[in-house]
Amino acid sequence: MYQIDENGFYGEFGGAYVPEVLYKCVHELQEAYKPVIESEEFKKEYHALLKDYVGRPSPLYLAKRLSEKYGCKIYLKREDLNHTGAHKINNTIGQILLAKKMGKERIICETGAGQHGVATATVCALMNMKCEVFMGATDVERQRVNVERMKMLGAQVNPVRTGNMTLSDACSAAIRDWCCHPKDTYYLVGSTMGPHPYPDLVARLQSVISEEIKWQLQEKEARNYPDYLIACIGGGSNAAGTIFHYIDDIRVKIVLAEAGGEGYMTDHTAATIHRGTTGILHGAKMLVMQNEDGQIQEAFSVSAGLDYPGVGPMHCNMAKLGRTEVLSINDDEAIRAGFELTRTEGIIPALESAHAIAALEKLTFKPSDVVVLTVSGRGDKDIETYLRYKL
Ligand SMILES: *Cc1c(COP(=O)(O)O)cnc(C)c1O
Repeated sequence: MYQIDENGFYGEFGGAYVPEVLYKCVHELQEAYKPVIESEEFKKEYHALLKDYVGRPSPLYLAKRLSEKYGCKIYLKREDLNHTGAHKINNTIGQILLAKKMGKERIICETGAGQHGVATATVCALMNMKCEVFMGATDVERQRVNVERMKMLGAQVNPVRTGNMTLSDACSAAIRDWCCHPKDTYYLVGSTMGPHPYPDLVARLQSVISEEIKWQLQEKEARNYPDYLIACIGGGSNAAGTIFHYIDDIRVKIVLAEAGGEGYMTDHTAATIHRGTTGILHGAKMLVMQNEDGQIQEAFSVSAGLDYPGVGPMHCNMAKLGRTEVLSINDDEAIRAGFELTRTEGIIPALESAHAIAALEKLTFKPSDVVVLTVSGRGDKDIETYLRYKL
């Protein structure tokens, strides 16, 4: 019910809506991805890199002071401790191995805040692959440090000057480039979005998060499932990884925090599941923020990583079926929660992850409840934004 079907749909969402010139290479990828990532050879290389290069397993940390405050047992899944500072590297490591095995020579990707661009440039340096990053010109201005990191890693950064010149336009530009070079180029998508098979591919690569949660909880709690899983959701990749092995386990409640911006009822929001309607964006059917004419509306959030007008098809379906509870967290609530985690546990979370922390005060827990919350990334990149609010 929650899994992808053979045509790449999660219920009514998903699929592969691509221009004709891409049919062949999308089909090639659909055929290749599962046999490759399920092969022993791939698994061995992937897990060796996750261990020695990324630093996995990431710790499952019992946050004592936070637990006291909310009256339950809260574990933090520390994706912020990964190499490059977030969960995104789990996906880029897997996809670069896949690209190599498919004989591709050139890697392209989209990026908003620059986090996925950095994670992609990193693995391209590691694998000696040519890397081009598409990034909205507005974001190039706003995220200078990440642009410099990508360049230092050897990537070419292409500013995109169409539309609002942000993430959504960068995705469109990457797809256009792919159309021009379908043979030698691999499009390394950054989240559980894009045409089939990307949502499933990215979810599977990120599923290492819940795979680890299972044995880590078994060690710490003598049972391998929590009562609650909490994660933030932009395109949906860290959320997908966090819940992957628990999707059909109804003992586990799933709570996802999307970016409300100034409030999901306002025009300054990125709360796609609350506000979106069904449409096609970047190759898949999903919930999209659009006007009556199907014109995409720009997303607004204090956190650049959640600032996307769509959301992955897997999450559209699960939310629609009521499997997940989706909360809209406003900018000020996220900032406050970021400071709270910093002062109670000495962990500065990424602004994206702070949305997940903010979900805690909207829920009611029993003292026996075991909660696992994914800290998707670290907040070093967000210090200036935090300080602007100075709580
Ligand atoms: C990119 C990013 C996100 C949002 O992306 P998802 O695909 O929804 O996980 C969340 N947290 C951090 C730290 C990010 O860099």
